[in-house]
Amino acid sequence: MPIIESYRYTRPDIQSHRDWLFVFGDNLQGRGYGGQAKEARGEPNAVGIVTKRLPSMAEGAFLQDSDVLRVTPLWQQAFSKINLHLMGGGVVIWPSEGVGTGRAQLPARAPGLWQELNLFIAAMKSVAEANGQIGFGKALGEPSITCPRCGLTSYNGNDIRERYCGNCHMWHDQMEGGQ
Ligand SMILES: [Zn+2]
Repeated sequence: MPIIESYRYTRPDIQSHRDWLFVFGDNLQGRGYGGQAKEARGEPNAVGIVTKRLPSMAEGAFLQDSDVLRVTPLWQQAFSKINLHLMGGGVVIWPSEGVGTGRAQLPARAPGLWQELNLFIAAMKSVAEANGQIGFGKALGEPSITCPRCGLTSYNGNDIRERYCGNCHMWHDQMEGGQ
């Protein structure tokens, strides 16, 4: 089974799929409820990847490249768990907004660590592929829009924003206007 990218999963998603492994961005203290940690913390089938020092947006809360010796062993642990799950045929739910991006600001604050994290991610994708699992897919909570006229569901950002159906070639507003 594959790695599935998910846009903002919820705690009920985690609790109703105990055989799936949910990934979230964590901090060195393993506490706080920002971002996906709000949903995932404390669940047995969730694994945190450390991307911050502290659960705050204060200056000292962000990882720096000098944290490499503290962070690398934790990443090794987390990714071993993920890779073993994939090797056993399990599903891994990966946040579609990324890990280390967003609130953690890893690319800007710790470019060396960011590069290292991407090596772990690339290795994880190789494990998934080696097990006959095609890369990332859409799933679970991904923003979408369903046409009231033909029922087609689109995941296209433009369709969602403009409320457009590519199948009917019409805007939803037009349909609701009775045209
Ligand atoms: Zn339509």
